Amino acid sequence: MFRKSLAAAAIAAAAVVPLTATPAGATEAGAAVVTLTYSVTGAPSFVNQIATSASHWNSSVTNVKLQRVSSGANFSYREGNDPRGSYASTNGHGSGYIFIDYTQVRQYDVIRVITHETGHVLGLPDHYSGPCSELMSGGGPGTSCTNSYPNSTERARVNSLWANGFTAGGEQRTVVEPQVFQH
Ligand SMILES: [Zn+2]
Repeated sequence: MFRKSLAAAAIAAAAVVPLTATPAGATEAGAAVVTLTYSVTGAPSFVNQIATSASHWNSSVTNVKLQRVSSGANFSYREGNDPRGSYASTNGHGSGYIFIDYTQVRQYDVIRVITHETGHVLGLPDHYSGPCSELMSGGGPGTSCTNSYPNSTERARVNSLWANGFTAGGEQRTVVEPQVFQH
């Protein structure tokens, strides 16, 4: 009885929302663009590179846009030394943080590293065996690979993952790059 009442209330609330609230960035077609905010206060050495990475994502996908904010960010960037290298601790749907390892970004293209890690926050998994043209192949193609844009398949995947806004969240996990960006 209690559950049934709750369900009924939830359905009623869900039905009312579209009539009373217009999501920020909603288009005339009704498809909302999600604005995903990030903080760079934990990664002061990489502010410009993070901005470049965000611009690459923003010019590549349409359903989610990255925007820097000074407080209340959805996710953040950090920097330092970690024997594991760079990694993303994220739910794969916009929250968590990205750690940028100093040693790694001296070996690999820093924009590619940051854009790749941001790809994890947007929901993409690693695919180390892929070519340089694939962002999520990470360090698989070697240190000479400087491509820092997602390919068409990766763009389509991210657009699909964000087609329903924040409602399709995943589970918190940490994506480390042990064999990719470290050698
Ligand atoms: Zn990765």
